[in-house]
Amino acid sequence: MKTFAPLLAPVLGALALFSTPTSAKSAEEKSDPVVILVSIDGFREDYLDRGITPHLSALAASGVSAAMRPSFPSKTFPNHWALVTGKVPDRNGIIANAFEDPAHPGEKFTMASDEPYWWDEAEPIWVTAEKAGIRTATMFWPGSNVAWGGTLVKEPWKTIEGGTRPSDWQQFNGAVSPSQRVDAVLDWMRRPAANRPRLVTLYFDQVDTAGHRYGPVDAHTDAAIADVDADIGKLVAGLRELGRATDLIVVADHGMAAVSSERTIALDTVAAPSLYKLGDAGPFAAITPTDGNEQALAAALLKPHDHMQCWRKQDIPARLHYGSNPRIAPFFCLAETGWQIATKRPDKASTGGAHGYDNAAPEMAALFVASGPDFMKRGKLPAFDNVDVAPLLRGLLGLPQSSDSDGNDAPFRDVMKHPRKD
Ligand code: AMP
Ligand code: ZN
Ligand code: ZN
Repeated sequence: MKTFAPLLAPVLGALALFSTPTSAKSAEEKSDPVVILVSIDGFREDYLDRGITPHLSALAASGVSAAMRPSFPSKTFPNHWALVTGKVPDRNGIIANAFEDPAHPGEKFTMASDEPYWWDEAEPIWVTAEKAGIRTATMFWPGSNVAWGGTLVKEPWKTIEGGTRPSDWQQFNGAVSPSQRVDAVLDWMRRPAANRPRLVTLYFDQVDTAGHRYGPVDAHTDAAIADVDADIGKLVAGLRELGRATDLIVVADHGMAAVSSERTIALDTVAAPSLYKLGDAGPFAAITPTDGNEQALAAALLKPHDHMQCWRKQDIPARLHYGSNPRIAPFFCLAETGWQIATKRPDKASTGGAHGYDNAAPEMAALFVASGPDFMKRGKLPAFDNVDVAPLLRGLLGLPQSSDSDGNDAPFRDVMKHPRKD
């Protein structure tokens, strides 16, 4: 091998993983590459430019990267579901991290909800793949523990009949360390071809957690970014050691904006609390009028406000693609990026980070990096929407494109190797 400067070691690691000399490959290794979709929750696109991510930067250098636009609202569950279904939250049914549904009175969707009916408005890629006979495995991903398409039976106790899950999946548990998550994926990759997954998801939450607590520009957040980069390095090294040809796609669900208690819109100064019931609040507010108060609430909300704009759901600007789903509350207010909507002025001063804002805000732009035998080395691509990721995955897995997707694979057509020359 030629000699290279030590600084290039991570780059070479990535290249070595993805380009084992043909003569050294067994027949098994020549089979289609494994597709690993990694989500680093809250990894804002420009974190990649901080000089603290040697492994992610090496992947970007050996393939492609982009500032990816999240779907609106720029929250965790709506966007993870958009990434794997190719549909915006208004059409994929996961319209927020917390919401209600008029079709299921008295029930609330939370991040722990696994009843299939919350999730059945859009089919995730692992279900499409499993139905096509492609084995999948998920090391966490919102919705991946759901028996998709199954039926909830409430009596004599809650059970779910039928439905499709990944062949291997894990119940979300924040206590499973990032390194253990990587080990689980590598264990799957160690399996013989017959029961080795072809599509894998992997999820990390510590960058989002640090971003909320300390804000996007803070040494603690940088430390979390560097830690997760080391986990990516461990994954790449492990795959290389196993000789698994892999298309690695690393994404985030949204970015992060700095917030402060100084930048709060107190709703009690806008409308009398008796006029409404508040759903989700923060970067946006989902508001339902109390009985008989629709007109009074409309009069209070639908006028100009500092740092916030409110609409009836049907009047939300078309570019946000949000407002037609029955799960969306009748009134919707969106804060200016960096501001937060709360019931009242906070008692205590605080700073940190938040997301959920306008998906076109630069602070909400999300990481996208892809590298592997199917990707050319093309550097930074123009920005694209995160609903384009599911069509990309379909292409990589040889699944037909859906005619009912909000995205398409156009952003990637010129950077894919067709046919692959590996
Ligand atoms: P957010 O409130 O939008 O910042 O959501 C991020 C949080 O979602 C993370 O800190 C995780 O604790 C949580 N989370 C991520 N995936 C799951 C899951 N599959 N089930 C339950 N909670 C999750
Ligand atoms: Zn998130
Ligand atoms: Zn978050």
